[in-house]
Amino acid sequence: MSIAASLRNLLTAAVLVAATPAFATESPDLAVHPDLAVHKVAENVYALVGPLEQRSPANLGNNATFGAVVTDAGVILIDSGGSARGAQAIEAALASVTDQPVSVVINTGGQDHRWFGNAYFKAKGARIIASEAAVADQTERGDGQFAVMRTLIGEDGVAGTTLSHAPETFADALEVTIGSTRLELRKVGPAHTPGDSFVWLPDQRVVFTGDIVYVDRMLGVGPQSDSRTWLEAFAAIAALKPAHVVPGHGRATDLAQAERETRDYLIHLRAKVGAVLEAGGDETAAASVDQAAFSHLAVFDEISRRNAQQVFMQMEWE
Ligand SMILES: [Zn+2]
Repeated sequence: MSIAASLRNLLTAAVLVAATPAFATESPDLAVHPDLAVHKVAENVYALVGPLEQRSPANLGNNATFGAVVTDAGVILIDSGGSARGAQAIEAALASVTDQPVSVVINTGGQDHRWFGNAYFKAKGARIIASEAAVADQTERGDGQFAVMRTLIGEDGVAGTTLSHAPETFADALEVTIGSTRLELRKVGPAHTPGDSFVWLPDQRVVFTGDIVYVDRMLGVGPQSDSRTWLEAFAAIAALKPAHVVPGHGRATDLAQAERETRDYLIHLRAKVGAVLEAGGDETAAASVDQAAFSHLAVFDEISRRNAQQVFMQMEWE
């Protein structure tokens, strides 16, 4: 395992999964991605932290953070991974902390790594739950997302992956009890995607945010995103006063870091782009707004200008 890859994810790691070689592409049967680290967040609550960078053959599309709650009736998995092999890697990572199988999968949104592993866990008998809006988004964008995923992680990477939507859906909110664990699901998007939801554990005061919260890396604003309602979704999470935040990207953290790196960035971007609009500037001017205060976040160089352009195109119509 590469030292650099380990250090990146190890800062708060309780367990680093798998003594496997770092070159997943050399071993088609390799189930465990070496960068998928399991961090203990609270008793029986874990964050599975994937790499911050783009999807690749090495990360199997698992370039995100997933959540797990071990109950006396199986594991509740928050988001199922970016491919069937990605789902298998998640399952292998979970095996380092529990013997329980995944009995429930919750998709927090419509982006590929939130749901491309559904069929893998469904075939093993898991319940799959998502918001109606997330399923609508998955239905609309699934084929396109799969084509991009295939390009990025390769034919080997997507092998065995079939797209499968949650059979159990909810409109705005759902309370579920699994074993003796209580969960609240709330659809609060559009944020990064139209159906973004969070999962709240009221007893442990842990929130799994999906793509509503990014830390450690710069968040992405896409054509499917809405930066204005994203801030409202964030406010709903902040109102919970969570003790722990398991973000959709980055390491498990507290609300303060989530505010600095997601909320404050969105506010900054909208203010800067809003000023360009006020001044009659165009999309090119918007792309060049000053975002230096957030340049410490990973993937800044790849994504910051595109984010500003995307926010510009949206704010033109607000
Ligand atoms: Zn994501």
